[in-house]
Amino acid sequence: MTESEAPRGSDVLLRLRGASRCYGSGEQAIYALRGIDLDICAGEMIALIGASGSGKSTLMSLIVGLNSAASGTVVFDGEVLSNKKRPKSLRRRFQMVFQDPYSSLDPRMNVRQQLMEILKVHDAVPDAQRQAHCEKIFAQVELAPSLLDARPRQMSGGQRQRVAIARALLLSPELLVADEPVSALDVSVQAGIVQLFADLRTRLGVTIFFIAHDLAVVRSVSDRVAVMYMGKIVEIGEADLIYGRPAHPYTRTLLEAVPMPDVNVKLKPAAVGTEMPSPSRPPSGCRFRTRCPRAQEVCEAVEPLLRRMPQGQFAACHFPHDEPAPGALGMRESGPGAVGEAPPIRPTDIRESANDRYRSTA
Ligand code: ADP
Ligand code: MG
Repeated sequence: MTESEAPRGSDVLLRLRGASRCYGSGEQAIYALRGIDLDICAGEMIALIGASGSGKSTLMSLIVGLNSAASGTVVFDGEVLSNKKRPKSLRRRFQMVFQDPYSSLDPRMNVRQQLMEILKVHDAVPDAQRQAHCEKIFAQVELAPSLLDARPRQMSGGQRQRVAIARALLLSPELLVADEPVSALDVSVQAGIVQLFADLRTRLGVTIFFIAHDLAVVRSVSDRVAVMYMGKIVEIGEADLIYGRPAHPYTRTLLEAVPMPDVNVKLKPAAVGTEMPSPSRPPSGCRFRTRCPRAQEVCEAVEPLLRRMPQGQFAACHFPHDEPAPGALGMRESGPGAVGEAPPIRPTDIRESANDRYRSTA
């Protein structure tokens, strides 16, 4: 990519160049990531979408330094990071939230003890202020203070994920990387957690890299969306464009799987009919061509690179779409002022019910 895909005029907080990771070797080698370039801008909420196995978690582990075998350059706030050893001071500046909140919570201790322990280890807040700091962070994730004395198993899934987010916020990180943080949660509590990330971004200015496996989850809250397919970013740009005028046929098939609010919109049956190719034997040229309704000969021979589309986003496709997506009603038209400006944050209507948030299920 010659042109940066980051919106003009924004500060890049994290820059990734040539990120690659291969698991195994020989016939069985799986290229989980192939030459990914990505800029994450300070203060934005960017969503990374892709089917299971597309390489999202591998990308995350490279960003946060958990995957030392991966290659590529990670530049954080102007500093080139080593894939192997990262100074503790730097680790504090970005934090992770995982799919399963159990993985980051200790079942033997109550929440207060766990949070206090982290503050102690990092010596982040003066001793006398630690209790108050925990309470403040708890309020930020909209949990009742009484839950500080609960153990993880006494809480609902949504509450536990809020605790995991509180834990990630304790040391005031600049970047929060969340790997499918709502995929394991009840559908009724997902929107509330997604909205919490959006609110934290607004209130604290923290940059959020939000990984999800479908486009519906992050529809109303992301500034930009990146779509991955078999280890590559195939489309990236302003959320309004990705939802309203997606260029890549794969993004369109993902959108067709999303229920549309307008019942009068008739959707084509999903174009992805054929099976997913084996990750150890990806198709030549464009990796999506075997499932793509638009594929032609050139797609087999020449791998398409990310390039800027007339409507504004970047897509890697020889035959991209430029017309609005079916069901993209109420989207801003392209034209002066429509493309390039950050879309406003639209609060979702459905919020996690107060009951779930404040109830202890003990
Ligand atoms: P996602 O998070 O999008 O589901 P992953 O990054 O977990 O994708 O996986 C990308 C590809 O790499 C998949 O084909 C997966 O099977 C493979 N993979 C991931 N981790 C390993 C591993 N530790 N060993 C071997 N293959 C792996
Ligand atoms: Mg994953």
